[in-house]
Amino acid sequence: MVISDNNTTALGIMGGTFDPVHYGHLRAALEVTELFKLDQLKLIPCARPSHRNQPQTPDYMRADMLALAIKHYANLSLDTRELHRPGKSYTVDTLVSLREELPEHPLLLFIGTDAFNQLTSWYQWQRLFDYAHIIVLARPNTELPTLNAFCQQRLAQQRDELSQHLAGLLYLQTITQLDISATAIRQLIAQGKNPGFLLPDAVIEYIHQHRLYQSL
Ligand code: ATP
Repeated sequence: MVISDNNTTALGIMGGTFDPVHYGHLRAALEVTELFKLDQLKLIPCARPSHRNQPQTPDYMRADMLALAIKHYANLSLDTRELHRPGKSYTVDTLVSLREELPEHPLLLFIGTDAFNQLTSWYQWQRLFDYAHIIVLARPNTELPTLNAFCQQRLAQQRDELSQHLAGLLYLQTITQLDISATAIRQLIAQGKNPGFLLPDAVIEYIHQHRLYQSL
């Protein structure tokens, strides 16, 4: 495992389709930024997911909505590298490029329990740990995911351990997860219902302006 000199702050990374971004993503992003004392957390919209259908909304619109949502949050930033990369949007390729840019910083990849439960089907999933730590965001008072031997060996007990290494550890972090999903928001809008208070008003205005999610 690569040792960090402990002087460089970690970079946070959160990927997703963000179709559209909502308060579930945003609250989690803000909370981990504070918990892990991050100067920056990058929200990285996925262009061509390998595990699910292609998002119905064009890449640039999903990125626009993210930009609107985080406009007033200096520690959160939009990173569009996956939108500019041809082929499937494999997370390992994203981590390789971030590691090239930031050879000295611990990288923290945050994923929800639902995504973590599919981890072993991700492209070259074990290589993810060569470039980043993985932090699984679990709901308080819910069952934590079962870990295979590979993950069990990497499990850190203390949050502080992550800053002592550049990559290679797994950590389970409970957060106040909000029960909001992009799927439910798309359904509400298609039914003509108001998605207010599930996502930022600026994003709702953008959705109305561009007549997004009118049908499923
Ligand atoms: P969809 O309903 O279209 O599947 P989604 O709402 O699950 O979308 P994604 O963009 O697929 O959102 O998720 C990106 C990341 O955010 C994943 O790691 C996922 O686990 C996490 N996430 C999604 N919703 C929440 C939430 N309510 N709270 C915390 N994390 C979330």
